[in-house]
Amino acid sequence: MTMIPRSPDRSALEQEQFLKILSREEALARFEAALFPRELRTETRKLAAALGVALAEDVTAPIDVPPFDRSNVDGFAVRSADLATAGEGAPVRLALNGETIHCGTAPILQVAAGTATTIATGGPLPRGADAVVMVEHTQPAGQDAIDIRRAVSPGQFVSYAGSDIARGEALLRAGTIIGSREIGMLAACGIAEVSVARRPRVAVISTGDELVQPGEVLAPAEIYDTNGAIVAAAIDENGGEAVFVGAIPDDEARLEAAMRNALADADMLVLSGGTSKGAGDLSHRIIGRLGAPGIIAHGVALKPGKPLCLAVCDGKPVVILPGFPTSAMFTFHDMIVPVLRRMAGLPPRSDAKVNATVPVRIASELGRTEFVMVSLVQGREGLIAYPSGKGSGAITSFAQADGFLRIDALADQMPAGTVTEVTLFTPHVRVPDLVIVGSHCTGLDLVTAQLAHAGLTVRSIAVGSLGGLAAAKRGECDLAPIHLFDDRSETYNTPYLVEGLELIAGWRRMQGIVFRKGDKRFEGLGAKDAVAAALADPACIMVNRNQGAGTRILIDRLLRGARPEGYWNQPRSHNAVAAAVAQHRADWGMTIAPVAHAVGLGFIPLAEEHYDFALVSARKQRPAVQAFLDALGSNEVRASLARAGFRPA
Ligand code: AMP
Ligand code: MG
Repeated sequence: MTMIPRSPDRSALEQEQFLKILSREEALARFEAALFPRELRTETRKLAAALGVALAEDVTAPIDVPPFDRSNVDGFAVRSADLATAGEGAPVRLALNGETIHCGTAPILQVAAGTATTIATGGPLPRGADAVVMVEHTQPAGQDAIDIRRAVSPGQFVSYAGSDIARGEALLRAGTIIGSREIGMLAACGIAEVSVARRPRVAVISTGDELVQPGEVLAPAEIYDTNGAIVAAAIDENGGEAVFVGAIPDDEARLEAAMRNALADADMLVLSGGTSKGAGDLSHRIIGRLGAPGIIAHGVALKPGKPLCLAVCDGKPVVILPGFPTSAMFTFHDMIVPVLRRMAGLPPRSDAKVNATVPVRIASELGRTEFVMVSLVQGREGLIAYPSGKGSGAITSFAQADGFLRIDALADQMPAGTVTEVTLFTPHVRVPDLVIVGSHCTGLDLVTAQLAHAGLTVRSIAVGSLGGLAAAKRGECDLAPIHLFDDRSETYNTPYLVEGLELIAGWRRMQGIVFRKGDKRFEGLGAKDAVAAALADPACIMVNRNQGAGTRILIDRLLRGARPEGYWNQPRSHNAVAAAVAQHRADWGMTIAPVAHAVGLGFIPLAEEHYDFALVSARKQRPAVQAFLDALGSNEVRASLARAGFRPA
């Protein structure tokens, strides 16, 4: 239940917001102009506590490193001029001075002409000496002398004072993130404390009546709070210190109290949810009361992320991210990270970019800059960027992508074959050892688990059987998992293969009718009778499958032209069918046995579906493909497939 008061000027407000939609660049420029320049908040930290934060000031070397001329080897400190005539046939004999210079020993005696002093690696060079001879290049001549058979140049094996770091030299620049190497440099100069940028404290609030924290139990219609966890982590990744407040219901008074509280001892506030149409004026109104100047941009011509709201309240940034996790993450990285990093004294993030070809046409909304998450695979000529087709509600589209591409606001599509720039989420392209593109099945994870244990990386891109087949034909993957029924030959998969592809038998998945256990209408019946029983009861609702699914063909055959209630509910996956029945949205449908059993539904078996692999023959000899085939045929994997309810072919 939402508690948003319906005000009479609601439509006017929405219209006003709509008119104020800014371009991404304009919104970011206005946001930054309202926040910067600002003084960097700093603190002093001991070296041991400085890891990962940014230096607030340039650091100048206070001493020379090394602080004195130092020997690099174990040997003898000498005067190079004494050895000018030394050679294999003409050894020079030097008298040893009566001291040994160890590390940490200050020399006392001078090296006079014709003498040498024993010195250890790291020992300070004595007065008079200008070079060091390695002990290996000398022969003892009694107790008190050595013979040397080679000339040395001045400075040989000597590190001069300040040769590593010179006193007064700029050691580290402000904005440098302190890592172990930086700590090493500071320690070498004797610096125990540094002035660093104080991590901005960023309060994080999720909003929504439907949100439950991970670890708690989901009630019907509730979802887990995803944004709270990812936004907090992304803040920590970008120099901030996240303070997660929790999920607050959509209640104006409670939300305002939480926002005021959070802002009181934070430098920044990030909310998510409640900014899309219908709830937009709730947070809008609250922010207006929190401080000046208030809202800077509400609505950005960005996809995903249009409902983004940027505000500044008494100098503190207040941001409302869109509710959908992918949109929230995207806008956070694109619009908030630059500001957060500046507040944290960090340099702008430098994202690596690569060029890649898009294999399919990507539709795009005119008038909004669109960012599309992509997975990269190696094609015949260069990289291929597969768009993640899961929509802005999908968290996996962000987590499993390698990066994103950008479609201009003025374009309504990106045609197949376009070569475009991809911004990477990681510093380098991670080219997987094995690429699987096609229909996904939980059984597949049991096979690829073996490869993962062997250290091979597997990229599995779910685009459905036909999409996988097309990718295999273009040579963009090693294997395409397919389960395509051919109506004419009444067989699976083989009729769909073309030259260059071969079929690897996978496993069988029993398809059948699912119902809730205890439903008297179906208990104990065969498939035909069960459908007849469903059709006989006008209150009985079905859940169908999408056109083109092999399962749909079976359903249509059983229905023989009937169109019962629920026929037009056509989800695209086995799991969605099971969820609809388990949650009472429907009473029956058709799915596969492992999925039905996992949800605890009754199951009436009907026919086996063949889940096989179209293998790109040219790639068969690749080690990862061989490893996959070995795993597929192994007793271990076959047994685990069987345990999960599949029948290995
Ligand atoms: P809203 O902008 O609040 O209408 O949210 C848009 C969509 O995002 C709805 O489906 C919400 O359930 C979902 N959503 C909002 N906040 C979160 C969150 N913290 N975690 C996961 N999903 C969320
Ligand atoms: Mg909400």
